Amino acid sequence: MPVSRKDLADARSPEALVKRILQAEPNLQVPVPILDLCACLGILRIEDFDTDEFEGSLVTDATRSEGIILAKRGGELRRRFTIAHELGHFLMAHHIPDQAGRFLCKKSDLMRVTAEEGDQRQRREVEANRFANLVLMPPHLLRAAMTAFREPHLQHVLALSGDFAVGKETAARAYVQYHPERIAIVVVGNGRVQRCYRSLSFPPVICAVGSPVPAHSLYRSSSYRPNIVSDITASSSDLWIDVKRDLRAPALFEQVYLQQNGFAMILLRLEPVPEESAEERKQEEGWRYRFHSGRR
Ligand SMILES: [Zn+2]
Repeated sequence: MPVSRKDLADARSPEALVKRILQAEPNLQVPVPILDLCACLGILRIEDFDTDEFEGSLVTDATRSEGIILAKRGGELRRRFTIAHELGHFLMAHHIPDQAGRFLCKKSDLMRVTAEEGDQRQRREVEANRFANLVLMPPHLLRAAMTAFREPHLQHVLALSGDFAVGKETAARAYVQYHPERIAIVVVGNGRVQRCYRSLSFPPVICAVGSPVPAHSLYRSSSYRPNIVSDITASSSDLWIDVKRDLRAPALFEQVYLQQNGFAMILLRLEPVPEESAEERKQEEGWRYRFHSGRR
């Protein structure tokens, strides 16, 4: 591979770093050869990390002349993400190690998508995750893969996970972000909502993290065989989103994918916004205003 540290120059953000890597590697294929990238960019070797407390670690010096990545043994996809995350810490020179010369990252760090204001450590973990997501699922290759997918379907998430060699949840997050329709994917663990990823146009999901999946959800209504994507079924939108009392509830569809370890993904899809003319909408809003204010 031709890429080297010189190509990255003074790139600091995950986005700038991945952009430079992709410029130097225009023919990059998926699954992205993350081990080769590590070797080209100054990682001497990758070792097994024998610990229950941490998922990954990076041993390096202050000038980042070279580094060693330690990654917990286990699922290959998870290990790839951990390695990409640690490579992110290595390439972002402003990241300060947890101990002298050593980053130590827990499972919760590798899942972090937002940081509390003022928490620099959390911010660094979020940046390392952004780097890992971008380098393992390069935007131009992801967009190209998405053109084959039309109607939202969880089978597409499984295909992305397989093609890009990333975990299902990483693939789900990218899918929701790149799909043009109003969709969300709820990650369920033992019957409770764990995480929720939604497209920009999908309204907030009203089920709080940790709360049980609604009793009338498709997820509850029948038993599914693990590892087989269910059919897509119409559901009640007010189970999942806040429907204003004076607005017509949009049609909502659910699809379930049950995994063997008690985890499941639920795809939620809202019907597209009808092609209502601006004039009709204005008229409707005018009526609603008059109704509420008592004016006729
Ligand atoms: Zn980390």
